[in-house]
Amino acid sequence: MNRLPFALLLLPSALFAADPKPAPPPHLADVDQQIDTHADDLLKLYKHLHSHPELSLQEKESAARMAAELEKLGFAVTTKVGGHGVVGVLKNGDGPTVWYRADMDALPVTEQTGLDYASKVRTKDRSGNDVGVMHACGHDVHMTCFVGVARTLVALKKHWSGTLVLVAQPAEEIGAGARMMIEDGLFKRFPKPDFAVALHADAQLPVGQIHYSEGLAMANVDTVDLTIKGKGGHGAAPHTTVDPVVLAAQVIVDLQTIVSREVEPGEPAVVTVGSIHAGTKHNIIPNECKLQLTVRSTTDKTRDAVLKAIERKAKAHAEAARAPAPEMKVHLDEFCPLLSNDPKLTKRLVTLFGTVLGPENLIPRKPIMGGEDFSRFGSTGAPICMYFLGTIDPEKYAASKKDGGKPLPSTHNDGYAPLPGPSIKVGVRTMSLAVLDLMAKK
Ligand SMILES: [Zn+2]
Ligand SMILES: [Zn+2]
Repeated sequence: MNRLPFALLLLPSALFAADPKPAPPPHLADVDQQIDTHADDLLKLYKHLHSHPELSLQEKESAARMAAELEKLGFAVTTKVGGHGVVGVLKNGDGPTVWYRADMDALPVTEQTGLDYASKVRTKDRSGNDVGVMHACGHDVHMTCFVGVARTLVALKKHWSGTLVLVAQPAEEIGAGARMMIEDGLFKRFPKPDFAVALHADAQLPVGQIHYSEGLAMANVDTVDLTIKGKGGHGAAPHTTVDPVVLAAQVIVDLQTIVSREVEPGEPAVVTVGSIHAGTKHNIIPNECKLQLTVRSTTDKTRDAVLKAIERKAKAHAEAARAPAPEMKVHLDEFCPLLSNDPKLTKRLVTLFGTVLGPENLIPRKPIMGGEDFSRFGSTGAPICMYFLGTIDPEKYAASKKDGGKPLPSTHNDGYAPLPGPSIKVGVRTMSLAVLDLMAKK
């Protein structure tokens, strides 16, 4: 064993520590003071938004509230940008243009949290079905943080300089809102972003933790309708029919081999049949069977190959069964391109958040196959970053991790219940500090 030189043993141990503790951001105390001032009111706003959720394309009241909040603060507000979109612009001297986007829509889910402010809202969805409505993706957290950040940044106006653009986006859940706003001139009617940032509530993380991906964060999303055709008839005389139900079953099983047998191992892709509908009665073989699919990919090449394989397999099975050709519709209006965070911007924000939350609470994660149309905010070439905000009560989180613990409901689940006060505090704190850093006075 080598002996350390005696002199080295006398060196103070601090010299061996990796880095000195980084300094907290310059305006942390001011930001925290704003958060304390607005905490009760923001919690009230959260509960109001939570109990008044609105489906995609129906976000009228949420949009009106976001517009009113920004107007009160002195933003130049434009409403009805691509449907119910709201844009608030605040010019505050020279400097970069920073966009902060929050989404407003809820989901057709009947809430089962049992909270005293749980949603009891029911409405008609786009197909005319009566559905419960719930903020099961945490977009109520997003809107509340949005208002909290707006108030904080207006109060701390003397500490930053540049143009702040706050965007309240509709229809994220159907992958349409960002596209609709862009088609309505979002990048032409308002100052173009130098940076665009957003946060998303996370149902699997305790409050105080943040997950992030440098680079690829989320997948391409395609929405596909597939109608398998047959020839209907009596259920007791199948030989006189071409049974689309049996044919659909064969197609569904074969679709499982696209990812497992045709896509290169290690290349992420998903083909899920989320809905199948056919027939009216036990003894009638129907004329057709309707499938609804979601397809996820992370490259153009895989996306193209998977969509072609679905069509090829459906056609081949139809031919083998002497059935009419199937009909396949890829809903390009609902396509959501993959979300890729700018690595440099992401590193900058993660380092900043680490000084406040502790670097151990900033956790990198692999890309997930969910989709988020915030990706479109990067289409001008501006660096973008979306990070994931822990929203779960730390005690509940710890209990879920114990042996035999109850797994936490994911987002889109009827039991997802963020711990609002502390989640909003971390959301407002991190996002305010992010914008202050990006727009720091020189
Ligand atoms: Zn969602
Ligand atoms: Zn969402």
